[in-house]
Amino acid sequence: MIPVTVRGDFPLVYEIEQWVNSVQDRFGLSVSSLPTDLTEVFVTNETHHGLFRVLDERRVVVSTWQSDGLSHYAGLSMAELMGLSTLLGLMQVRALQLNTFLRAEDFVHPSNAECLFATLPLKQSYAGTLESLNVCSGCRDFYRCLELEPEVDVLLRLIQHMENGKTAQGRPC
Ligand SMILES: [Zn+2]
Repeated sequence: MIPVTVRGDFPLVYEIEQWVNSVQDRFGLSVSSLPTDLTEVFVTNETHHGLFRVLDERRVVVSTWQSDGLSHYAGLSMAELMGLSTLLGLMQVRALQLNTFLRAEDFVHPSNAECLFATLPLKQSYAGTLESLNVCSGCRDFYRCLELEPEVDVLLRLIQHMENGKTAQGRPC
């Protein structure tokens, strides 16, 4: 398990930690202070048009900015939206850790694809990708080629799990 420290305001960071640790076992999130040489996730409210922002090979930022509406539209709780964003960001953090030749530009993704990694102009634009919860075959191949087979599998299983949850919730009583 890869240890990851989550920093930000309670209770949200605690809810993110609980949810992420309950749905996968590749990353072990912890809100308690640990030595800073570990991978870190910062939960902020910064204005940023994306689901996450990778700072370098150790740090990723996820923001609550405009996330209320997004989570509501996509039928996700705030912890689920932020937790999923965290795992997407951690994928690229891991890619940078294992492949030192990679640059931020390598992650720019066509906006016309239905994919959680798509680079879109506005945060609201992610409503559609969150609704369909898809990772395109290009990304699956790309990250697998970067030695991230376990992380890709975790993400695909999680997406399937979330899809099933939505279907269950959406059924008429
Ligand atoms: Zn993709």
